[in-house]
Amino acid sequence: MNKRETIKRFKCLDCKVSTLDTNEYYMVEDRVWEKAGDDEGMLCIGCLEKRIGRKLECKDFSKCPLNFDPMWAKSDRLLDRMTNGSNFLYRSNPT
Ligand SMILES: [Zn+2]
Repeated sequence: MNKRETIKRFKCLDCKVSTLDTNEYYMVEDRVWEKAGDDEGMLCIGCLEKRIGRKLECKDFSKCPLNFDPMWAKSDRLLDRMTNGSNFLYRSNPT
C-alpha cells in the first residue's frame, strides 16, 4: 500500500492526526461507530472515546482480521483498550 496515497483517509476527523502514524488503525463494531455519528472516515482512539463518552473495551472492536493482523502496529492505548474487559479478543503474537 502506498502510504502517501492513503494518508488522507487515515486522518482523524476531529484532531487531524494520522492514525497510521499513531498506529491507531482499527475497526469497531457498527453500534459504536453509529454512536460516534460518522459512517465515513477515521477517528483516533481519543476522539472516538470523546464522542461516545466512555472508554473503549475489547468488545467494541470488530472481529475482523484487520484488528488482529500483526502487520498493523498498535499504539499503547489501542492495545490497552483491546485487552480491556473480561473476554480478550486480541492476543499479541508471542514471538
Ligand atoms: Zn483524533
